[in-house]
Amino acid sequence: MKKTFLLLLLFTGLIGQTSGQEKQKVTHLPIFDIHVHTMKVNPAWGNPMCPWFLSNMPGGDPLEGPPSFQNLDCVDPLMPATSDEEMQDEVIKRIHDFNMTMVAFGDPDVLRSWVKAAPPGRIIPGIGISNATSMSVEAFRDSLTNGFYKVMAEVAPQYQGISPSDPALDPYFAVAEEFHVPVGIHMGTGGNGMTNVSNPNYRASMGNPFLLEDLLARHPKMKIWVMHAGYPMLEEMIALMGYHAYVYLDISGFIWSYPLDEIHYYIKRLVQAGFGKRIMYGTDFMLWPRLFETSMGVIEHAQYLSEDQKRDILFNNAVRFFRMDPAQFDWPEE
Ligand SMILES: [Zn+2]
Repeated sequence: MKKTFLLLLLFTGLIGQTSGQEKQKVTHLPIFDIHVHTMKVNPAWGNPMCPWFLSNMPGGDPLEGPPSFQNLDCVDPLMPATSDEEMQDEVIKRIHDFNMTMVAFGDPDVLRSWVKAAPPGRIIPGIGISNATSMSVEAFRDSLTNGFYKVMAEVAPQYQGISPSDPALDPYFAVAEEFHVPVGIHMGTGGNGMTNVSNPNYRASMGNPFLLEDLLARHPKMKIWVMHAGYPMLEEMIALMGYHAYVYLDISGFIWSYPLDEIHYYIKRLVQAGFGKRIMYGTDFMLWPRLFETSMGVIEHAQYLSEDQKRDILFNNAVRFFRMDPAQFDWPEE
């Protein structure tokens, strides 16, 4: 008895020592951010940002030029990263600090650089196709064959005023279905005058979640998630998820840009309607490193969510969606 106990002590002691040497101690429960953009830093875009800046959308007059998208009337605006290096360092630091895994897509050079700098498996690379002219179907197939990309995202035909069920995109979705690669599709959230200010082809109507139905019918084995939760088309979103049992959504983008009360109302309704296991946390991270903690705080402080529901949104649901094993993530010691 005594001998076994001693051996056990030695054994556990050794284990503790090895893991302590290999990586820094994990204190934060794992977080899964399913919507991160890799972007080259562009000074023209690099403005400070006040979260929830769309709380006031006064509009404008067509004879007076476009209204401003931004609102800098807050105490503590989030500052953009000023160089690609700073951006990468800030992102990697947060992967460590918040024990984060993220699905990232966008600029391929930035993406590869982040993947190299992050601990293995913490950045899951995605590739997005939003129109049939940017990449041939064969080139897309090659990208998936080579194994680097694990996700098809962000697919955003709405910016061109095209439906996700448009036949032009169908061959790409067929490839994603064949490779069992999950697909993230931008639906909704157009900001303050998106169509007038920056994207003349953007159509609010092309963000209707019902537009996904034909696509889903054509590709029954394809797994999709609706990015930005189809905001503000709540009823349609609820109906779509009710009829289509494999559809998930992410709450990225609108959780830091639209009015806070409105965001909470929207998420609360989704949970109340029974979809607490299909809401995935995401930021829509672009330029401002503190956006990670700002967005996470929205869920952490939601009074209508239980601790279990918060963990589902921040981690469990995405793990289930991607058919991953929770044991493969790092967990804080008890
Ligand atoms: Zn989007």
